[in-house]
Amino acid sequence: MVQLQGKGTGGGVAVGSVYLLRKGEGQIPMHRTEDPAGELRQLEAALQTARGQLGRLYESARERAGEESAQVFQIHQMMLEDEDYLEAIRDAVTQEGCNVQWAVSKASQMFSQMFSSMEDAYMRERAADVEDISRRLLRILSGSGDAGIRFDAPVILAAEDLSPSETVQLDQEKILAFLTEKGSDNSHTAILARTMGIPAVVGVSGLLKAVEQGMEAGVDGDSGAVWLSPDSVVLETLGEKAALQKEQKRRLARLRGLPAQTQSGRRMMLYANIGGVEDVQAALSNDAEGVGLFRTEFLYLQSRTYPTEEEQFAVYRKVVQGMDGRRVIFRTLDIGADKQADYFQLEAEENPAMGVRAIRICLERPDLFRTQLRAIYRAGAYGPVGIMFPMITSLWELQEAKAHCEAVRQELIEEGIPVAEKAEIGVMIETPAAALISGTLAAHVDFFSIGTNDLTQYTLALDRQNSKAGRFYDPHHPAVLELIRISAKAAHEGGAWCGICGELAADLSLTEQFLDWGIDELSVSPGGILPLKETIRSLP
Ligand code: PEP
Ligand code: MG
Repeated sequence: MVQLQGKGTGGGVAVGSVYLLRKGEGQIPMHRTEDPAGELRQLEAALQTARGQLGRLYESARERAGEESAQVFQIHQMMLEDEDYLEAIRDAVTQEGCNVQWAVSKASQMFSQMFSSMEDAYMRERAADVEDISRRLLRILSGSGDAGIRFDAPVILAAEDLSPSETVQLDQEKILAFLTEKGSDNSHTAILARTMGIPAVVGVSGLLKAVEQGMEAGVDGDSGAVWLSPDSVVLETLGEKAALQKEQKRRLARLRGLPAQTQSGRRMMLYANIGGVEDVQAALSNDAEGVGLFRTEFLYLQSRTYPTEEEQFAVYRKVVQGMDGRRVIFRTLDIGADKQADYFQLEAEENPAMGVRAIRICLERPDLFRTQLRAIYRAGAYGPVGIMFPMITSLWELQEAKAHCEAVRQELIEEGIPVAEKAEIGVMIETPAAALISGTLAAHVDFFSIGTNDLTQYTLALDRQNSKAGRFYDPHHPAVLELIRISAKAAHEGGAWCGICGELAADLSLTEQFLDWGIDELSVSPGGILPLKETIRSLP
């Protein structure tokens, strides 16, 4: 038995067999092939599939975003025909006798280095394209296609790291737990695991060295302990813990339907954070009074190209109807930083968390923004909705975003399309700048929602993705708490209401403090709602 330790993100315990996900070109093993002709046949088939995928992507991008934006897929198609690139792959297979995946990865490295070193800026940019088409080929060759990773039976998924777009495409039913060697418990992957209610341990050092495909593992998502080939004592302890958790669930279930109020009658709205329609059921069964944060970008991460207005509307309407009269707050597209979708073709940035992300992308690309706003306003015809903007730092950004909202609403009315009678408008307070000008912002919105994950990152100048951050990433830091306090005060003085939707909202050690500051709403992953209700009801 080997015991490892990481950061638990919650979700309870799990026991099962490990599926070790090895990915990325650097990890592709080279092996000698006895059948180079067979490897080359695989290459031809993969090329054909890739051409088909790129053709479809070109068509849908052209329809959606115009010829210019779609051209990238034509360039990719041309690169797939490039004789030098193909010859490099074929030569590696026939002359060096290596497997086709390794040959693709080698050609990718060679050509991307060659393009990167060119003087011409246009040619330098082709390095990213050659990496992109190579990744596409590798996905096809590994059988994962574009649809993400698939398993036949429930597994404990172990990987070096998982991106939010990989996590969101996983089949939830087939995952008992996640284990990653990298990552922090504030990363979006960890947050997604929490929303799905799946035990996860991140930053498990030594994981990849110790774990083997198919071995049995035990996971405690709360303490962060991981056991490989657990002995009978550990299995028994995990069994007892699972029984205790069942008992706790039964106890919490008795609170369903009861108000979230203290003994003296102070009330708190308890809302759910969701990532898609699939989380609505969990929100309702955990007694959510609404959705306080709909992370709409996960819809974009699941797509192969920009989701159309109709596609977004279909999803948003389902969520609004599913919540059956309870308020749904849409957070507008928060793409960038760790949330990357290839088709956005976002430029590589030195510091993407401080780069052109979230509202900045939306204001720079109003066509994208307005498509989403149209879908939200249309969904608002089916139930109460709110709209909030991520990463606001200045009043003008809020004003510009609101102007788009109003223009879109008018446009829909003129087109005779049913729209939300009223959509509440809010800003996320997740930068120190927004907190410090909260008095000004409050006069222009209906509500604030404090995003403590990013607020902590930006206040403490500490990357929330960094698995080494450890005790330096401290959401309880007095500077963070003070920014929350002043934002809540400014909201109320300006006539707005104030919620918290970052992970700190679920921290039971702060619930009383939040009540004292007059926080009106806490929005947490569905599994965090009933524990909060229990704490609130126990307070004087
Ligand atoms: C936050 O930053 O606290 C937040 C709720 O948004 P996200 O975690 O999606 O960045
Ligand atoms: Mg955020």
